[in-house]
Amino acid sequence: MFGKFKRLWAKQPLKKSYDAVIIGGGLHGLATAFFLARNYAMTDVAVIEKRYIGYGGAGRNTAIVRANQRTQENLPLYKEGLDFWPILTKELDFNLMFYNCGNLNLAHSEAALKALRLQVTSAQFHGINSQLVDPKECKALIPALDISDRPTYPIFGGMYHPPGGIVRHDAVVWGLAKGAAKLGVHIHQQTEVTGIEVENQKIVSVDTSNGKISTPRVLNAAGGYSAAVSYHMLGIRLPISVLTIQAMVTHPLKPLLNHVVSSGAYHVYANQTLKGEIATGSHMDPWPNYTTQTSAYYIKHQAEALTKLMPCLKGVKFMRSWAGLADMTPDMAPIMDGNYPLEGYYMDCGWGYFGFKSSAVTGKYMAQFMATGECPDILKPFELRRFEHHRLMGETPAVVEYSPNN
Ligand SMILES: Cc1cc2nc3c(=O)[nH]c(=O)nc-3n(C[C@H](O)[C@H](O)[C@H](O)COP(=O)(O)OP(=O)(O)OC[C@H]3O[C@@H](n4cnc5c(N)ncnc54)[C@H](O)[C@@H]3O)c2cc1C
Repeated sequence: MFGKFKRLWAKQPLKKSYDAVIIGGGLHGLATAFFLARNYAMTDVAVIEKRYIGYGGAGRNTAIVRANQRTQENLPLYKEGLDFWPILTKELDFNLMFYNCGNLNLAHSEAALKALRLQVTSAQFHGINSQLVDPKECKALIPALDISDRPTYPIFGGMYHPPGGIVRHDAVVWGLAKGAAKLGVHIHQQTEVTGIEVENQKIVSVDTSNGKISTPRVLNAAGGYSAAVSYHMLGIRLPISVLTIQAMVTHPLKPLLNHVVSSGAYHVYANQTLKGEIATGSHMDPWPNYTTQTSAYYIKHQAEALTKLMPCLKGVKFMRSWAGLADMTPDMAPIMDGNYPLEGYYMDCGWGYFGFKSSAVTGKYMAQFMATGECPDILKPFELRRFEHHRLMGETPAVVEYSPNN
């Protein structure tokens, strides 16, 4: 009755050596592998994934993409990242389901509105479409919003970003894996990197649960486990805290939310999936931990926050909840570095809960870095040494309300 299941990529034997080994079959590992093969003809590359590709944040995120970040260092990368989704869809010949429905970040105080005004101006300076809107315009965008003064935190206005939206995260994982494998990259699932060997300050090999691999280059793209990989395998401490982020979906509803909406005061964001479910997430759990368990506290929190914003959701049931790990740096910006502090050691980690948005374009630049040994200009602000030199950036999440002073 059913056709034979067609594999998107072939299983290959683990070789004894590769030109590059990538730890982690998530968004960043797969994207880097694809572009190493596509742009630099480096096809002797292995992606090593301890479980299955997309097991980490790649398969657990809420798929929101936007470019209106806060800082001068992040804005160019996220702009290129957002513009890249339609290009990647064509390059991979794989439908990534990019839906640019637009994002609306709400402000619930005069101070928050001032902070959004600064963010809008910074984005506009970089040619990013971002606008301040008043409560009535918020209501016109999302009729379900309560813009009266009844809620605990009334709406003072918002930051509207029309080109943002959602991309199907699983499709990105499968499309990149299929594309990379077609060009000759080996993807080894159910294989864990257990050690990294160094001689004369140079990477020489990695140990895996299925054998040793000689290699001069390793990329740490292990997401929530990247700090543990770096410290336990190489003794290099990364300024990363690992925190749980939870998300959940309601049962399917008729269309009522045609933009991504987020609120810093309520610590909540939501969008309606193409299936009709309201997908919603929150800020991270407040304490570092490695659990991917969900908690009743957050389910209650999401229900309360969503129904304050959109009272018509009262009585709607959550159908499913899940959690993943966020590898969070002190300045909420990633670490991208290479040949430091060891020759052949590359890092693309610390993405926290922003790492889906510009994953594909970052993979393109990390591939350039690994193939040429030269750090592309756009990645330079994200070097590990910024923490030693006190050059931290002040990036912000969409679910924390800021004033111009923080
Ligand atoms: C609930 C939730 C919602 C989110 N929502 C958004 C969003 O809307 N927008 C956004 O931009 N971002 C979002 N994120 C963040 C985003 O998902 C991550 O930043 C992103 O997945 C990071 O990609 P990555 O490739 O670095 O890591 P991951 O996708 O986590 O991949 C790392 C992989 O490395 C593997 N690995 C770890 N250690 C080893 C080892 N020793 N050997 C072999 N393999 C190993 C893991 O199994 C994992 O598959 C969200 C995250 C969560 C959890």
